Amino acid sequence: MDSNLRPILSSEQIQEKVSLLATAIQRDTDPGTTLHLIAPLKGSFVFLSDLIRAISIPVTIDFASLSSYGKRMTSSGSPRWTLTPANVRQKHVLIVEDIVDTGLTLQTLRAQLLAQEPLSLRSVCLLDKPARRQVDIPIEFVGFTLEDVFVVGYGLDLAEAHRQLPFLAVIDNPKTRIPNSE
Ligand code: 5GP
Repeated sequence: MDSNLRPILSSEQIQEKVSLLATAIQRDTDPGTTLHLIAPLKGSFVFLSDLIRAISIPVTIDFASLSSYGKRMTSSGSPRWTLTPANVRQKHVLIVEDIVDTGLTLQTLRAQLLAQEPLSLRSVCLLDKPARRQVDIPIEFVGFTLEDVFVVGYGLDLAEAHRQLPFLAVIDNPKTRIPNSE
């Protein structure tokens, strides 16, 4: 394994948390509801795929392409949409985020979806870095709370590397940080 990677959450710990989040989401969703899950690409696709298999109520899925990182390691502060999500009017929407950092990405996605007047709009994030938050946004379901660290694995990348790791790791050596082109 890359010596710059310091594992912080094992695959087992992540799967256990995904299962707990799925239980909480189902408990807080009215019976008979179909949940429309929207995952911002690319990092959320691994979390989304595990989450939908842990949820037994009906779900539909869609993807939104946006990123606040551009070509730098810290948030640019201006999330950029490259794909508009499908119409969510008359749907109960759950945004499925891998990680919330400044909150700007989630805020922008929420605003765009709210403009389409969904029946409801909630969010679940696997990882939360509240110390870095720049905007106050509701997140109904939170997995793990992290300090101000840069993590990779379980779908999260550094310059497209490390997404396939089944665990989450911190990158300790800042010199290896190559700008992300996502
Ligand atoms: P925000 O808009 O909340 O600042 O950033 C959200 C997005 O930034 C996430 O969906 C993710 O793509 C990226 N991001 C934030 N923190 C990290 C991190 O620690 N590692 C990686 N790989 N991406 C991150």
